[in-house]
Amino acid sequence: MDKIATPEGTKAILNKYSFVFRKKFGQNFLIDPHVLDEIIYASEITKEDCVLEIGPGIGSVTQELIKHAGKVIAVEIDKMLIPILEKQFGEVQNFKLIHEDILKVDLKKLIEEESPGKRIKVVANLPYYITTPIIMALLEDELSIESITVMVQKEVAQRLAAPPGSKQYGAITLAVNYYAKPHLAADVPRNCFMPSPNVDSAVLKMTLNKEPVVAINNTKQLFRIIKAAFAQRRKTLLNTLMANGELNLSKEALKQLLDESGIGATTRGEALSLQDFASLSNYIDEHRM
Ligand code: SAM
Repeated sequence: MDKIATPEGTKAILNKYSFVFRKKFGQNFLIDPHVLDEIIYASEITKEDCVLEIGPGIGSVTQELIKHAGKVIAVEIDKMLIPILEKQFGEVQNFKLIHEDILKVDLKKLIEEESPGKRIKVVANLPYYITTPIIMALLEDELSIESITVMVQKEVAQRLAAPPGSKQYGAITLAVNYYAKPHLAADVPRNCFMPSPNVDSAVLKMTLNKEPVVAINNTKQLFRIIKAAFAQRRKTLLNTLMANGELNLSKEALKQLLDESGIGATTRGEALSLQDFASLSNYIDEHRM
């Protein structure tokens, strides 16, 4: 079979099946074989691995995943792509195709059934309209996942992997850091896709933490504080946490807790690491009256 992730390979399949792109599904197919190599390299897939691919499209990435992995499970929403994928890979032993919306799949059950007792690796050129809900579901749902290697909009990748203090650093960066170690693996220009999107992309790898990276008494409170701290990022912690009101403390009590915890009432959220937020949340939990 010819390589699909090239302009010629992709055009040949589109013509053969008279496929019409559906914008609402975020369909931008990869046509650059070097970028595909970078995705495969970053994901560190071996024959021992079971891979979950989200949105296989016409199989540009799938074709390479099948070669490198022990097993590939692909979940595709577009019914027009199902016969194409079945024709391309239906005979392949280690390939399983599921026609479903990824946000509706019971992933815990699927992983248990398809990869019993083993952790899986997720690889995807994600549909941009639902990047964040997909990533957060993969991180938060306590699934048996080892790593997530995804193509996303460059701006999103920079936000998810941003260092503290940077312009892109925000509540979502801290949420990702709580569950995983993010790493920007490659920048990908927009002309590597068909049709070409209006923005550039990047390959982001998130390796899930085996052990929690922070000791936290109350995870819900930690995320409430983080969300409030970035709701008005130019304000001091004292002012933005007071404006949010969810901690239910007087201004004096909150100022005292912030100062005594060592974080300081006049600090801004963007200067704090996940560890800092965890110490603050634990301190408030233990010392509030
Ligand atoms: N993997 C292919 C590639 O790299 O060329 C296609 C990537 S394209 C950016 C996104 C793919 O996700 C499309 O095939 C689209 O139909 C599919 N998709 C969109 N929304 C989806 C959803 N909710 N669940 C599963 N697949 C979805």
